[in-house]
Amino acid sequence: MVDKLFIDGFWVPPIHGRTIFSINPATEDIIQSVGSASEDDIDLAVCAARRAFTGEWGSLSGYERACFLNMLADDLEQHREALAVLEVCDNGKPLLEAQRDVADAVSCFRYYAVLARELDELQDEPNPLSNASFDCRVRHEAIGVVGLILPWNNPLLTAARKVAPALAAGAACVLKPSELTPLTALQLGAAAERVGLPRGALNIVPGFGNEAGHALGQHPGIDKVVFSGSVPTGAKVMSAAVSGIKNVSLELGGKSAFIVFDDADIEAAVEWVMCGIFWNQGQIYGATSRLLVQRKIAPRLLERLVEAARSIKIGSGLEPGVKMGPLVGAEQYRKVMSLIAHGAEEATLVSGGGRPSCFSYGYFVEPTIFDEPDSDSFIWNEDVFGPVLCVKRFNTEAQAISYANDRRYGFAAAVMSADPERAARVANALRAGIVWVNCSQPSFIEAPRGGARHSGGRRALGGNGLADYLEVKQVTRYVSNIPWRWY
Ligand code: NAD
Repeated sequence: MVDKLFIDGFWVPPIHGRTIFSINPATEDIIQSVGSASEDDIDLAVCAARRAFTGEWGSLSGYERACFLNMLADDLEQHREALAVLEVCDNGKPLLEAQRDVADAVSCFRYYAVLARELDELQDEPNPLSNASFDCRVRHEAIGVVGLILPWNNPLLTAARKVAPALAAGAACVLKPSELTPLTALQLGAAAERVGLPRGALNIVPGFGNEAGHALGQHPGIDKVVFSGSVPTGAKVMSAAVSGIKNVSLELGGKSAFIVFDDADIEAAVEWVMCGIFWNQGQIYGATSRLLVQRKIAPRLLERLVEAARSIKIGSGLEPGVKMGPLVGAEQYRKVMSLIAHGAEEATLVSGGGRPSCFSYGYFVEPTIFDEPDSDSFIWNEDVFGPVLCVKRFNTEAQAISYANDRRYGFAAAVMSADPERAARVANALRAGIVWVNCSQPSFIEAPRGGARHSGGRRALGGNGLADYLEVKQVTRYVSNIPWRWY
């Protein structure tokens, strides 16, 4: 499968023979070359998916699709250690995080297997009408062929979170992983091959965004595009879909706030704040990168955060005890470093800000903390997507809510307080798709996950994740014995 694309159930070389080099961000070494899809390859993959949808795959029941989802889960589980190591090498994250991603990916396939079976029972649900002459039923049918365009931060897990509900619904998929991290997505193709998934139900086509991504987003054979990535690319995907009036779901950037009130337990706050910004090197779109601290406890909390940030072990994700690996690649490293340099002109840099001195190679960035940026500063507003925390003080509850909501993003927010009534009041006032109370970042397959405004409007996971790949059809029958007179 080296250098090949997974199209129509076969490993095929890219038509124009182009390749991408997959780089280990801890060593900057090439891991392997991977086939890079062109517009022509995308066309082949979309046509294969269409044939699957109108053919064997599209004719299966929910129960039969569930069997395939469970087989995919079993297969991934069997290969879990190799997948986790591959993810570390391709993406840079610490092994423990990669192992959790693989375990979550397995659970995701199992969860949507259950929902696929339930879909059979939901079909032809009677809809209670007030009119006895008609019998109205509701069907839930797969949306068709879906194009999935993914980022690089949780490559296998993000792929599973898109592919599992799509297959559960009965859709056929063309998946384009990020050009930076295609390796575990290709392994999903290998798993599909091993379990005998009907040909064309899942096609994996790594490639560059402006070529393969663009071609997939605007292909007339695609019924729906699901995109995760940056706001500017999301806007391009949306505008490419306009002429085809395509259904588009977007999951975009974030700049989430974490509010800590002065009655909060400081040590618990340190743990959750650290997890909210330094997990996966801050490359999480729900990263709580804006910390709002009530003035009285701000000096103590900041002092403890700086101590904790300086004690983080940084290194290759495969090294035992490492809690932060490198950023994903050279471009992301340069982007984060330049945002940090910009931030240093706008706020006080209290910790980190550079590459750890012990590394002469690898895209490592120290956990970085800025104090008191202005509300209109770049570093306070921009989605860094790296290990950079900004801290700001507030006096009152109303001020904290206003700071937290005053952003174009609306993915997540967190609040920490010993007073449950205040926590609940603030949670209700925060404008975000997810609010974490006394924690940050827990994620559950069963619960809807997504944002608002510039974070994109999609709700993934849970029943919403499945509904995203379904069309609802009303079937109404005339059931009265009285002959119908149209006038
Ligand atoms: P990106 O927008 O550069 O790329 C995302 C995907 O889009 C990649 O597969 C890329 O090849 C593709 N792409 C690029 N140009 C395209 C085009 N013109 N048409 C179609 N596809 C194109 O984002 P990234 O650098 O991979 O990820 C980082 C950003 O993504 C961050 O801003 C982060 O906030 C966001 N993100 C969001 C989520 C989410 O679920 N909301 C998850 C991860 C990352």
